[in-house]
Amino acid sequence: MRRIKKFRHGGLYQRGQAFVGGQSIENAYLPNHALLIFREHEAAGEPDLAVNEGQLVNEGQLLAKATRNNALNVHASIPGIVRKIMTIPSPEGFNTRALVLSLQGHFKLNGAISGKRPWQSLNRHELSFVLQEKGVACTATGLGLHQILGNAHGVDTLIINAIDSTNYPAHEIVILEEYLNEVMEGCAIIKKASTVQSVLVALSGSRNQKLEVNIAKAAESFDLQYRIEYFSDKYPQAFPHQIISALGVNKNKNPCLFLVPGTLYAVYNAVSLNRPHIDQFVTFGGDVLKHHQLLKVRIGTPVGRLIEECGGFIHAPEIIALNNPMVNGCISNLDTPVSKTTRSVWALSKSATRLGVPDNCIRCGACIQVCPERLDPYLMYKLLGSGSIEKIRGQLDACTSCGACSYVCRSRIPLSVHFKNKKKEKLKDEQ
Ligand code: SF4
Ligand code: SF4
Repeated sequence: MRRIKKFRHGGLYQRGQAFVGGQSIENAYLPNHALLIFREHEAAGEPDLAVNEGQLVNEGQLLAKATRNNALNVHASIPGIVRKIMTIPSPEGFNTRALVLSLQGHFKLNGAISGKRPWQSLNRHELSFVLQEKGVACTATGLGLHQILGNAHGVDTLIINAIDSTNYPAHEIVILEEYLNEVMEGCAIIKKASTVQSVLVALSGSRNQKLEVNIAKAAESFDLQYRIEYFSDKYPQAFPHQIISALGVNKNKNPCLFLVPGTLYAVYNAVSLNRPHIDQFVTFGGDVLKHHQLLKVRIGTPVGRLIEECGGFIHAPEIIALNNPMVNGCISNLDTPVSKTTRSVWALSKSATRLGVPDNCIRCGACIQVCPERLDPYLMYKLLGSGSIEKIRGQLDACTSCGACSYVCRSRIPLSVHFKNKKKEKLKDEQ
């Protein structure tokens, strides 16, 4: 019998409310204009420009070169003319340089049959260099893969995180199923480029037996020692520290490396096919989107264009959110481009957002019961309101902004948004 693991305290189930599921991956139409941002997260360094306005560039050409370890190379996702170089606000609110490319010229990578690179002869440093050169980012965090591997000292296990535990899944499981050999080759590359010895495939408990058989075949062909573990659908089970908690391992004694299938596919592309990180898998869903789809998209494609490709809206959305709406904010502009960390886009009605005019706290305690970090969101909110931030400094640091407390709050108090903003303010004050 299959044993389902789950983290111990709090969490919530959102069963029966998933907006999408069951479809396969389609290639999105290529954009006429691509907007390429230079920084994927606030702490990232900015790469140096390698092109000028008006210059014609090839598909895959280097546009901005990382000169710091925490920066990423940026490549042309389409061939074209560099129309404009500017500074724009990212969807997360920090400023980043960006570049507009207008489609022109020939595709050199699209549809080209390229030979595979015999990467098995490369050593750890050479593989890390290739990942850096191709601008490969962890699609869950935006960190450069070369940076992650550089910090992964003594890591023994690579965990392929394909758990979907929210209403807003990125459908990493579909990427794993459809590109299983590529993902497994990505694992073999990571193994060669690090101290990783074995692979753990983390799946939601409802997956079928056939996938197990296919994983076994693929792991054998890449000589990978592996095991599969099943996890509950309880949110936020897919958070790495909750996987560790459910496995019951000591993260200091057994440090693990977490990567999602989409990132491993980018690793395979970069190392085996010599292709920069210019594609991204993005789920489009939500109750006011006409057709739900999982698209393979060129980075820089405006979200609005992809929403059109999904048939547009049934009626005007209350919000459009990127990735997990319980954690991330929403976008106000349909020109927002797909970046290396865009994994899903949600067009939601007011009722689906669970937003409303906040009422007074009724002291129901639901937020305390659901908090997976054993915090007291009600007390945190109250003390923050009275300016007593010092009294809950520890709780604020332990908050993962998972949003479970806000989701269950009967008074519609946006607790987690409040905590996230306070944490940001605190961080700025300390700098
Ligand atoms: S957002 Fe923070 S306080 Fe709220 S449930 Fe998650 S960890 Fe707990
Ligand atoms: S869930 Fe909302 S209403 Fe209930 S105790 Fe927490 S803050 Fe108050």
